[in-house]
Amino acid sequence: ATAVRLTEVTKKYRGGVTALDHVSLPVPRGTFLAVMGPSGSGKSTLLHCAAGLDVPTDGSVHIGDTEISGLSETKRTMLRRERVGFVFQAYNLVPSLSVSDNITLPLRLAGARPDHDWLRTLVAHIGLEGLLNRRPAELSGGQQQRAAVARALVARPDVVFADEPTGALDLHTAGEVLDLLRRLADDFGQTVVMVTHDPGAAARAHEAVVMADGRIRDVVATPSAEKLA
Ligand code: ADP
Ligand code: ADP
Repeated sequence: ATAVRLTEVTKKYRGGVTALDHVSLPVPRGTFLAVMGPSGSGKSTLLHCAAGLDVPTDGSVHIGDTEISGLSETKRTMLRRERVGFVFQAYNLVPSLSVSDNITLPLRLAGARPDHDWLRTLVAHIGLEGLLNRRPAELSGGQQQRAAVARALVARPDVVFADEPTGALDLHTAGEVLDLLRRLADDFGQTVVMVTHDPGAAARAHEAVVMADGRIRDVVATPSAEKLA
């Protein structure tokens, strides 16, 4: 089964730029996929279309069995809240909320209740015990990003999209966050789609696609930094 599927997706922006040109990409469940490519190659556009943040000009996008590009904006927003998690470069935690409240925020926005067993599993797996009552400013960068990963997973999404999740971290801490994303895929079957320009980061994924000029130029199974350089 595929968690996400792009079929012949084309995205043209006003002004005439074709950011995606007939891109087809199935993402099987449980895959940790890296999306690479130079600046301007269409990575962000691909992520935004795959996550239902934006709609393609042409083609279709499925999250699970749901075709999302034909949905109204309201329905897409609901579907995102229920079935998609996001991790950003800058963590985007709410400074005034505790780590615990940050993690459960997506559930409250979706009007759902926390599943306490799942929360405990998540917090233990991600190594956030003892940090739940702190504010984000009282955490290191790596801890903040781990809290953001927990927040992305709290609603048990079909897929987590991570946009340069290690861009603000030092090499060692970045490695820990990448290992975490890999373990989520390997241990929980979590589908993760990560945009990165760093071959070393992409090498931790199960598979990498390399974008160029709005197309998928290359698909690399079992990527390594050498193959992607
Ligand atoms: P990447 O993430 O790989 O840097 P993007 O998806 O951001 O690539 O951009 C792909 C192309 O689309 C680029 O030529 C960029 O300038 C253009 N683009 C991106 N967003 C917009 C927008 N909102 N309006 C017009 N052009 C855009
Ligand atoms: P990690 O490897 O998880 O990123 P660090 O080794 O950077 O952790 O940090 C060790 C400890 O120092 C952490 O428990 C954290 O509470 C504290 N710490 C690190 N950076 C900061 C910061 N900018 N503000 C407050 N506390 C910090």
